[in-house]
Amino acid sequence: MSKSARTPDVLVIGAGAAGLACARDLLTAGLDVEVVEASDGVGGRMRTDRVDGFVVDRGFQVFNTSYPQVKRRLALRGLRPVPFTPGVLVHAADRGTLRFGDPSRRPGTLPGLLTGRLAGPRDLAALGVLSARTALGPAAALKRAPERTTRTALADAGFSEAFVERFFRPFLSGVFLEDGLETSSRFFHLVWRSMLRGTLCLPAEGIGAVPLALADALPPGTVRLETPVAALTEDGAVTEDGREVAAPTVVVATGWGPAARLLPGLPVPDGRTVTTYYHVAPRPPLREPTLLVDERRRFLNTCVLSEVVAGFAPRGSALVATSVLGTDTEGRQRTVLDALAEAYHADTGGWDLLTVRTVPDALPAMAPPQPLSRTSRFGPGRHVCGDHRATGSVQGALASGARAAREILRDRR
Ligand SMILES: Cc1cc2nc3c(=O)[nH]c(=O)nc-3n(C[C@H](O)[C@H](O)[C@H](O)COP(=O)(O)OP(=O)(O)OC[C@H]3O[C@@H](n4cnc5c(N)ncnc54)[C@H](O)[C@@H]3O)c2cc1C
Repeated sequence: MSKSARTPDVLVIGAGAAGLACARDLLTAGLDVEVVEASDGVGGRMRTDRVDGFVVDRGFQVFNTSYPQVKRRLALRGLRPVPFTPGVLVHAADRGTLRFGDPSRRPGTLPGLLTGRLAGPRDLAALGVLSARTALGPAAALKRAPERTTRTALADAGFSEAFVERFFRPFLSGVFLEDGLETSSRFFHLVWRSMLRGTLCLPAEGIGAVPLALADALPPGTVRLETPVAALTEDGAVTEDGREVAAPTVVVATGWGPAARLLPGLPVPDGRTVTTYYHVAPRPPLREPTLLVDERRRFLNTCVLSEVVAGFAPRGSALVATSVLGTDTEGRQRTVLDALAEAYHADTGGWDLLTVRTVPDALPAMAPPQPLSRTSRFGPGRHVCGDHRATGSVQGALASGARAAREILRDRR
């Protein structure tokens, strides 16, 4: 077994958002840090590929500008974020396509919400109370609020079953990656707050630009790619090619699956799987940068990506991203194309499937009780961070990395 020449103060395993944030905070505090990453690039679940001239994220995701950790760490302008239209379109089973707009930003969308269309007066009143309570109060109060499933919280907030089924359930399925509204109400309230306070957008170069910007803030040579860690040792870790990396402190920032193997006994959540179909259409089926969800939940959400960022598709074609829960099972592509034909009122017969991205552990399950932040300490000199230790989001991953750095610095004092 060979030994690494360098002995950093801290070895961070995994260069996703959490590992990169942790490394950055430790370096800023003056520690020597090395990050080892199994794959050929930084970003983990936030990576972008180029496929035949199209820009394709490894699973469709959106970027929210209001996340506190995002604002703290990233120069947003450098990412050239391009916004979605506020709100979403809902393809309703029996009433065509309805717009759920945010009337505070687009007053013209209010009539679409009114009685007989998407929401009744009771739902509008409940929406006003929910939005005021989540957007205006301190986030700390939401984190301490009584915890239930999101379904129970919505019923308790006075929403009608019809509105929950027509709007919240299809919309939130794409956020939680589960379609039973079983996710913790605390997470739901934080998500709702971030949507009201921020803007959903995509970086002009794809979601992968976010971790690339985080990595750019590290000194050159901090991250070593294509270096999978096989096991932790008493003195640090050993890589799959048999090299020992000694370090007094090790941070496992690998996502929960690999973390459970490296840290036996670590409690880990179930994972949510999502598949995104990327289709190329000869022309955009909708000329708007917006999310479209399906009341019947044949897909989680769809959007014409090239209407959000024109550069995602070569001139003369349109790129459509459509996500579904679970994997790409047999016959699913046909069902999805049929549902898209209905939702977009388009002939999808001439669409070509560009690529399919399935992400097995895309998000951790977050059923109540759901501690929104867990300690990184696992044992002497051993820490763990990632979205599974906070919330399943970029905010959660970054905050968990930041917490690990704080706890390491405290332990060294
Ligand atoms: C399809 C999809 C849609 C999403 N949508 C949203 C959204 O709209 N909004 C939002 O806020 N969040 C969203 N998320 C969640 C968000 O992307 C994640 O919460 C976040 O990226 C997790 O970061 P992480 O650092 O905790 O873990 P990861 O990104 O999983 O990083 C772990 C890293 O560790 C590396 N690694 C693993 N094992 C080893 C090993 N043995 N040795 C060395 N390295 C190892 C991996 O290669 C990876 O780079 C979405 C995620 C997906 C996949």
